[in-house]
Amino acid sequence: RLVASGGDGCLLFDPALQARLSERALLEHGLRDALREQQLFLVYQPVVPLRDGATLGVEALLRWRHPQRGLVPPLQFIGVAERCGLILEIGEFVLRTACKAFMAWQRSCGPDAPRRMAVNLSPAQLQAPDIVDQVRRALADVGMPAAALQLEVTESMAVRGDEAMQRLRALKDLGVLIALDDFGTGYSSLACLHQLPVDTVKVDRSFVMHAEASEYHRVLIEATVRVARTLGMTTVAEGIEGHGEDALMRELGCDRGQGYLYARPLPDAELLAWLQARAAATPAAALPPPAAA
Ligand code: C2E
Ligand code: MG
Ligand code: MG
Ligand code: MG
Repeated sequence: RLVASGGDGCLLFDPALQARLSERALLEHGLRDALREQQLFLVYQPVVPLRDGATLGVEALLRWRHPQRGLVPPLQFIGVAERCGLILEIGEFVLRTACKAFMAWQRSCGPDAPRRMAVNLSPAQLQAPDIVDQVRRALADVGMPAAALQLEVTESMAVRGDEAMQRLRALKDLGVLIALDDFGTGYSSLACLHQLPVDTVKVDRSFVMHAEASEYHRVLIEATVRVARTLGMTTVAEGIEGHGEDALMRELGCDRGQGYLYARPLPDAELLAWLQARAAATPAAALPPPAAA
């Protein structure tokens, strides 16, 4: 509601808008401290094989422990970080921390360690000219093979234009894998998939959660899996919470699955415990060979 206007400006008085703006300003201010004061940390969620030969991976997910508010969910602060430019610094922290953790697990867990580390990239990071160098240096500094890193981007980057796309191709040329995150929720479609430099399609949880009850969602997932496979891409089903969903996603041909059924996103130490428990429960012969896709 506009209550006053005059001179070269106007005075807005919309309590809801005001609340949103000051909330954003508060978060933005807090985020600057967060990096400095080490309030940001990563948790890791396993991505498990649903078929023989598929590999175990993890996805790094960012967390912010705010001194007053406790844990702030990423969807509440990543947008803020994008708008104020802090996402570049935060993104580099995520990348470096994830690569370091990945290499530490290789040393401590040997053959039971995850084979792949997935890291989310925001659209603003793809627009930064030095993102390719940033990734190259993060890998080189810890001696991580490029093929063990998977960068996750959303469909929105496909409509960001040629520059983002070129950067994505340059990243792929480094040898890192690219995953299309939250597939099905954006603007691109199955018909565009062949134009994207992508190795893996992550079917969004909104499809997975309806698949048991809805034939429409099942058919869409099945079509996605078939198109992806035809293009040489692999698929991940996101947000698997129940055994029925697990069975169905296997039946529909998804290569890998991620969800609370297998594990929640876990702090480093808990992930190590999860890996050890899994290795103890899995006969060696059932583990995929190291070179599998
Ligand atoms: P995403 O990349 O699609 O990550 C998967 C999200 O689904 C995570 O939420 C995860 O905790 C949640 N999830 C996994 N399994 C289940 C399940 O079985 N049920 C339900 N209900 N949820 C499940 P989270 O950690 O809150 O992250 C939300 C989003 O924030 C991510 O979605 C990603 O887009 C973004 N994000 C997280 N970390 C980063 C980061 O380091 N950088 C950037 N740019 N974005 C990030
Ligand atoms: Mg992701
Ligand atoms: Mg996702
Ligand atoms: Mg998602």
